[in-house]
Amino acid sequence: MQPVQRDLLAVDREQIWHPYTSMRNPLPVYQVASARGVRLKLSDGRELIDGMSSWWTAIHGYNHPALNAAATAQIEKVSHVMFGGITHEPAITLAEQIFRLAPRSLDRIFYSDSGSVSVEVAIKMAIQFWFAQDRPRKTRLLTIRSGYHGDTFGAMSVCDPDNGMHGMFGGVLPQHIFVPAPRTRFDEPMQNADIEPVRDVLEQQSDEIAAIIVEPVVQGAGGMRIYSPQVLTQLRALCDQHDVLLIFDEIATGFGRTGKMFACEHAGVAPDIMCIGKALTGGYLSLAATLANRRVSDGISAGDNDGVFMHGPTFMGNPLACAVASASLSLLESGDWQTSVRRIEAQLKSDLSPLADHPAVEDVRVLGAIGVIECHTAIDVAKAQAYFVSEGVWIRPFGKLLYIMPPYIIDDDDLSQLTTAMAGLLDQ
Ligand SMILES: *Cc1c(COP(=O)(O)O)cnc(C)c1O
Repeated sequence: MQPVQRDLLAVDREQIWHPYTSMRNPLPVYQVASARGVRLKLSDGRELIDGMSSWWTAIHGYNHPALNAAATAQIEKVSHVMFGGITHEPAITLAEQIFRLAPRSLDRIFYSDSGSVSVEVAIKMAIQFWFAQDRPRKTRLLTIRSGYHGDTFGAMSVCDPDNGMHGMFGGVLPQHIFVPAPRTRFDEPMQNADIEPVRDVLEQQSDEIAAIIVEPVVQGAGGMRIYSPQVLTQLRALCDQHDVLLIFDEIATGFGRTGKMFACEHAGVAPDIMCIGKALTGGYLSLAATLANRRVSDGISAGDNDGVFMHGPTFMGNPLACAVASASLSLLESGDWQTSVRRIEAQLKSDLSPLADHPAVEDVRVLGAIGVIECHTAIDVAKAQAYFVSEGVWIRPFGKLLYIMPPYIIDDDDLSQLTTAMAGLLDQ
């Protein structure tokens, strides 16, 4: 190891927090020097095949010529300008593209800078909508357990209350309503028990509920659970019946990851409000958005205060992020991502399904370009990371979950190396 690099890592360890890590007892970190395609290159020269797409984002792989070109061209024009009183072509073009891909009833967009903020905005929209309809008591949210919606306070308040991440903040969070997560698997017919608790709560309390918020079909960081799309159809009907808005958080599932452009397409159901982020810029920059249908935007607009929607981040509609997002969506619009995701899904099924019989394994789940192995016990992250790096792959387990969601451009051999390493870890 070269001295320079050791110094950098020492500074990192002393001074920099990483996501969900301890400063007292930090997990080892690996220094990335560059990346291209599906490979991360470490500063010591080793190359790792990336199984995580940098947390769902790098769907086209790293260092993509079209995304690089879009970023460079936009930097030459303007990297950022305030969105108050000013607009620009990248934000407008991107909105048009998003509405070509999103469920048709959504036609209003609010840009923000991270997924968590887009969830805050969605919650605010729902509450402000009912306030403007003279129903100020409708302020609570209903959600299913095992969800993950982000780390800010509003988003935390609808994350699974028990899975440990936010337990200590319980006392200062708004109290929302949780029902058990659906148990029916993706391709099984929905059971009544999946929807009964939602119906019960709505029958009792819909006069205080602003919206239901869920991650459609795939629950991400809250447990990597995959459930029947029929649940979404039922949620839509119940929301309509009880005058409650429906929010889909497509931040992880959006842009093709589950085999459809958006996961709600598995059910053919549109929400009133939808959050997008993560893969929106192909993993280049932090950008998110909250989409709304006409009913929601008209409802908010009908309120006092001239119908002003009360939010406006400093970096709203950042031109650089919008230009790269536009290029990323153009790749999706012109490319054959569906074939790639189907190919990845087929291989994940054939490689991972046999591991369901492994003594360490509780369950194996695959949908689109997502492969999940749930173990009986929690995985030692530091040991697992060291093993994976020695096998030339980058996979980061979480709790009992060993999972991958590789870039769509990954080829069969590289994908085999990922699944072989997953199987290898189980044997360790
Ligand atoms: C990652 C994620 C978020 C939060 O997004 P950030 O950009 O990390 O703030 C919210 N909801 C879901 C479903 C996510 O996967």
